[in-house]
Amino acid sequence: MPDLYIDGSWVTAEEGGRRTITCPADGTVVAEVDEGSEADSLAAVAAARRAFDEGPWPRSPMAERGALLARVADLLQRDKADIARAESLDTGKRYVESEFDVDDVTSVFRHYAGFAMSGGEGGRVVDTGRADVVSTVVREPVGVCSLITPWNYPLLQASWKVAPCLAAGNTFVLKPSEISPSTTIHLMRLLEEAGLPSGVGNLVLGAGGAVGGPLSGDPRVDLVSFTGGLVTGRHLMVAAAPTVKRLALELGGKNPNIVFADADLEVALDMALTAVFLHSGQVCSAGARLVVEESVAQEFVDDLVERARQIRLGGPFDESAQTGPLTSAAHRDKVEAYVARGLEEGARLRCGGARPDGGAYENGFYYLPTVLDRCRADMSVVQDESFGPVLTVETFATEDEAVAIANSSVYGLAGAVWTATAGKGERVAARLRMGTVWINDYHPYVPQAEWGGYKQSGNGRELGLVGLEEYQETKHVWHNIAPTVQGWFA
Ligand code: NAD
Repeated sequence: MPDLYIDGSWVTAEEGGRRTITCPADGTVVAEVDEGSEADSLAAVAAARRAFDEGPWPRSPMAERGALLARVADLLQRDKADIARAESLDTGKRYVESEFDVDDVTSVFRHYAGFAMSGGEGGRVVDTGRADVVSTVVREPVGVCSLITPWNYPLLQASWKVAPCLAAGNTFVLKPSEISPSTTIHLMRLLEEAGLPSGVGNLVLGAGGAVGGPLSGDPRVDLVSFTGGLVTGRHLMVAAAPTVKRLALELGGKNPNIVFADADLEVALDMALTAVFLHSGQVCSAGARLVVEESVAQEFVDDLVERARQIRLGGPFDESAQTGPLTSAAHRDKVEAYVARGLEEGARLRCGGARPDGGAYENGFYYLPTVLDRCRADMSVVQDESFGPVLTVETFATEDEAVAIANSSVYGLAGAVWTATAGKGERVAARLRMGTVWINDYHPYVPQAEWGGYKQSGNGRELGLVGLEEYQETKHVWHNIAPTVQGWFA
């Protein structure tokens, strides 16, 4: 069955390309999909443009669009096991995590369905102080949206874009990462089953430059929403500049996890492991930078290293595994080079720093949970995102120093503060330059709250009300209900 979805039909790639998808846990072939080219992207953009300019979707009642999203949520739950399995096979992620992901994705669709079914915001009347004028501010869809997503949470990242994009009445071309496209194909099938009109949603597959390139440069595209790496994000900004597109960027992070001596250290330790080693660190908000108060640092880090050594690696369906492989051989090479650089710069290797031994790991891209201490903010290993299971450790003596260390980054995606003193938690949270701050927790998010980065972690927000407004234009309509001659040039 063809895998590209353009103008309401499933089609094969125009130039006949195919791509093999392998499971990072053992290198087995798990899927073969169509590999698109520029021609497919251009056809998809044309279809989305036509559906926006001529089709009923942008002008349909918001409640109807919401009802469609609610049907998609139900279908996601119907297919939960199949989707979770496919996500695990493409990414190597534990099956149980993929199940969580499908539930998360379902709540994102339900959230925007509920908002849209309640009619959304109908606009507002502005008081101009003039009896002869009716002035209203209304929200309208932006137009054709390019939605480009990464490989680490393929379906989740797609849902954060697709659900608000549709709720707001836009049309889209969706391009998942070429490494892990299976669940995005499944989502497109569910959108079709739920009754999405032809041309409103289009799916292209393939390499970033060839297939993603036209999606950020084509003048018929109004908005690009991108989640991925910083370097690609910068590239997209340049590509989108000549046509001044709306641009929403969700980029990387190098997220500090600050532990004060007065915290509940047992919980803080447990969560420090989850913060960085979940999904082998391939999480944009991973707490990869431990910033711990000097007075407790030695014992805290010793205990953490002990626990990190015991983490069990394994494939998605190995029930004893606690985390899985890296996504590809190339990505593991990058993580290895990153650790080597850290050691050259003077960091001390406390555990990991190598591939696991043994036949079971032979064909997968595994890398041991790694802790580097004696790190300083000026080291590249502290500044750069590894996107792997690597924790760097820095220490501080005062609250001011903790804040300064945590903010010393070009990134500003997320971070956490652990303390038993409520005032200190709030004070530090207020001073952190990050889009999400957890106090005495790590990683949770809800679709009702905005997600996104300060500084070079991106611009714009996903989720929450702002995540919908990203997909809307604002129009002011000034209606003079009793026009008279003004006589300015009389
Ligand atoms: P990536 O930048 O390599 O690729 C992301 C997507 O962009 C893929 O679909 C890719 O094919 C496409 N792409 C690549 N070059 C392109 C081009 N020239 N034009 C258009 N599209 C292009 O990122 P990745 O390796 O897939 O994902 C990992 C990165 O994503 C990490 O840096 C991570 O922090 C980030 N991320 C951020 C968030 C967030 O919410 N801020 C969430 C998940 C991942």
